[in-house]
Amino acid sequence: MTSIATLGSHCALQVLKGAKDEGFKTILVCEKKREKLYRRYRFIDEFVLVDSFLEVVDQKCASKLKEEDSIIIPHGTLISQMDSTQIESIKTPIFGNKWILRWESDRKMKEKLMLESKLNIPKSIASPKEIKNLVIAKRHGAAGGKGYFLTTSEKDYKKKRDRLISQGLIKGDNDLYLQEYSFGVPTYLQYFYSPLKGELEFFGADRRYESDIDGLGRIPAPQQIEVDLIPSFNVMGNIPIVLRESLLDEVYSMGERFVEASKRLVSPGMNGPFCLEGVYDENGKFTAFEFSARIVAGTNLYIDGSPYSTFLYNESMSMGRRIAREIKEAKNANELAKVVT
Ligand code: AMP
Repeated sequence: MTSIATLGSHCALQVLKGAKDEGFKTILVCEKKREKLYRRYRFIDEFVLVDSFLEVVDQKCASKLKEEDSIIIPHGTLISQMDSTQIESIKTPIFGNKWILRWESDRKMKEKLMLESKLNIPKSIASPKEIKNLVIAKRHGAAGGKGYFLTTSEKDYKKKRDRLISQGLIKGDNDLYLQEYSFGVPTYLQYFYSPLKGELEFFGADRRYESDIDGLGRIPAPQQIEVDLIPSFNVMGNIPIVLRESLLDEVYSMGERFVEASKRLVSPGMNGPFCLEGVYDENGKFTAFEFSARIVAGTNLYIDGSPYSTFLYNESMSMGRRIAREIKEAKNANELAKVVT
């Protein structure tokens, strides 16, 4: 019997709850330190306890998952804890396209896929010498905004970079990617593409609540100036958003262009959940600064369905459950190969 497995972090609860609701056996690969937390949830059938998530590639863990006929649902923790080569070497089938995760982690590849998708993206800045306007310095991979900073000059950039080096967060310039800051309201667009139906579903939107940039507005300007703080963008949670209905058409167009571009650049394409991340400006124009090629934690908001999934399904449909539904339908149609890599 096929089971659904994931790593104990990020959106594991949602994924396994959804899998259980769809009738699957659920397996959590869990670090020993988190066992107590996850034992509270009855819908987790089995625990594979590890000291580190890196053990997913080890023979012992792989054999257990094989024995259970598991499919792994990848999420942000997999990407932040393992490099692309390690992820690609996982023997257990992975839901979606594991090859596209490299395109998420590598900034150059990411930019290429976004351009191929004809998304409007912020300019990247090749060297600190070229910093003129407001620029955001970002770390590679799924750092979750930790250690990101804003800067407007090379001098200021160096000061902040050196502080991150002394904190051990980065080694040097190569660990930072510079991008023009996009003004507007941050919005994260959550999608699901079904390779079985050949259809894109817009599932919901959220914004992130980031420390400490989102707390800064609580401090009056004179005190902001007094404290020598380099605000980071470390995500702590998510806040729901519903969009102006007039924006929805373009939301779908952007998602469809992304799906089509992925098919051209990284076979078998963008199957399953993904997210386009950016800002809407005052004219409702979206600038995308990122994508995630797998389920994002913002979907944790919508366990009973989002305003948008409710239009598509006459039942509570979380993203976790949608994933399990796709696996179930693929299995029934003998087309599992279409939804895993
Ligand atoms: P990311 O890791 O790229 O998702 O970025 C983390 C956070 O940094 C985002 O949630 C935004 O708040 C902010 N951010 C990243 N890139 C940009 C950008 N080009 N313009 C404005 N804000 C950005």
